[in-house]
Amino acid sequence: MPELVSKILAIERLKQEGEAGKCLMCKLNQNNDFVIFEDEHTTVFLSAYPRFWGHTIVSLKRHVECFSDLNEEEYRFLFENSRKVAIAIEKALKPLRTYIASVGATENKLNTCPHIHVNVLPIYENDIKPSQVFTWENGIYTGTEVEWGHLKTVLKSAMNA
Ligand SMILES: [Zn+2]
Repeated sequence: MPELVSKILAIERLKQEGEAGKCLMCKLNQNNDFVIFEDEHTTVFLSAYPRFWGHTIVSLKRHVECFSDLNEEEYRFLFENSRKVAIAIEKALKPLRTYIASVGATENKLNTCPHIHVNVLPIYENDIKPSQVFTWENGIYTGTEVEWGHLKTVLKSAMNA
């Protein structure tokens, strides 16, 4: 079973890996072992710091920070792929509910950034409130190499089905 680790531990781990002040999405678009799908405008990958096991990110390849700077084709690719990820998550992971949301930050931080991306999150518990979905206060999940490999395989095949 994937293990829940505390926010403090997750932030410490990120500090070791992270480069403060750099765009996290640009970095993850270029160098990422968790990619499950890619096309001309987007990179789709598992969150390495998932609030819920199976949390997947659809990231725009181009560094764009505002929806007004996104062209229609990029917007379509971003959200059509988010829909495909949500369907793949529903088929493969059978959550009670799936959230799709574009969140981020106004400045670069260790665990988020302003670069436009969409989060697709499986929710497995009945009593989760929307305000609990994007916080690390209750910890984040991590898995063994086998668990990560399995998650990547099932989502990749559901995505391409
Ligand atoms: Zn960027």
